[in-house]
Amino acid sequence: MTRRDREFIDDAARRLKPLLEKAQTVVLCTHVNPDGDGIGAEICLHRHLRSVDIESRIINTEGLPLRYRFLDPSGAVEVFDAREHAEFLRNADLIFMLDNSSVSRLGPLEPAVRASRATTVCIDHHDVVEPFWNINIVDEEASATGELVFQIVKALGGTIDTESAQAAYVSLVTDTGYFRFSKTSPRSHEAAAEMLALGVRPPLVYQEVYERNSAALVRLSGVALSSLQRDEGGSLAWIRLTHQQVVDCDAAREDLSDVVNGLLAIDGVRIAVMLKDLGGNRIKLSFRSKEALDVNRIAAMFGGGGHRNASGAVISGSLDGSIDRVLAPCKDLLRAGR
Ligand code: 5GP
Ligand code: MN
Repeated sequence: MTRRDREFIDDAARRLKPLLEKAQTVVLCTHVNPDGDGIGAEICLHRHLRSVDIESRIINTEGLPLRYRFLDPSGAVEVFDAREHAEFLRNADLIFMLDNSSVSRLGPLEPAVRASRATTVCIDHHDVVEPFWNINIVDEEASATGELVFQIVKALGGTIDTESAQAAYVSLVTDTGYFRFSKTSPRSHEAAAEMLALGVRPPLVYQEVYERNSAALVRLSGVALSSLQRDEGGSLAWIRLTHQQVVDCDAAREDLSDVVNGLLAIDGVRIAVMLKDLGGNRIKLSFRSKEALDVNRIAAMFGGGGHRNASGAVISGSLDGSIDRVLAPCKDLLRAGR
């Protein structure tokens, strides 16, 4: 770890320590449609808090996708229900938001978090930080939030067992695309080496996370890919899905981010876009890019966010009515970057 990284982690631990010493009840949450990074970070931190006798509860807006259930054999992850959780959230000493700072991405948890007396802490690695949280521990250079949590728990003097290391490893490998995206650093590999030394088994993790696709996802991927179009001399690839296609494949909850990532594997493609009709006049946008092309800025134009090379947003409108307006800034960016 570089000196700058070490100082960041030590400072985070220094700020958290007095809060944790006083805390009895803690809520951990992440963004809507929880992904491997958010979930891995939650489980790693939860196990540490439990080990120091803090009553920690993970409260998410959705249940764990099948591919991440092996991280939580005891069923610690709860799905938010206002009747069941509002009071615990209101009276909690601390709320941790992991892998996201955008309050709107709390989904149905937002009012309960706003109504809480808790000190709120955001641990994240996105470069836009919403000014809502009492304490921000945000390192945009970190490859994954779970890796930050792993380092912070160690700096707090906590022990990391195989299960905690495995959760952090899932954060690391899912958010770096198995060490190939731009935030992959010597530190990512050093952390992975430590996690393996703690007992993490890479073949097992790979099978659990990447070989549990539903047939519905594979079918929907095929439908999505058959809509492929290219533009800007082949440097822009885009796909679209109608709501009916999603319904017909019985795949409303499937995460197509790997399909969009795959578009970048087409020779010459530098920006990839997916427009997916969620129904109810809402369209989910996913953007991917290579190198310096910043699609985070494009997602932000549509009220979303993310990273330079992977971002997303949800907009209102019809699918057909949205295509031109979504592709226009991508084309502009490709022309400017040429
Ligand atoms: P995906 O396209 O796989 O859903 O998202 C890629 C990345 O973009 C995510 O890891 C997340 O950082 C970001 N992202 C996706 N959707 C949204 C959104 O609606 N709002 C914000 N702020 N970020 C998003
Ligand atoms: Mn992340």
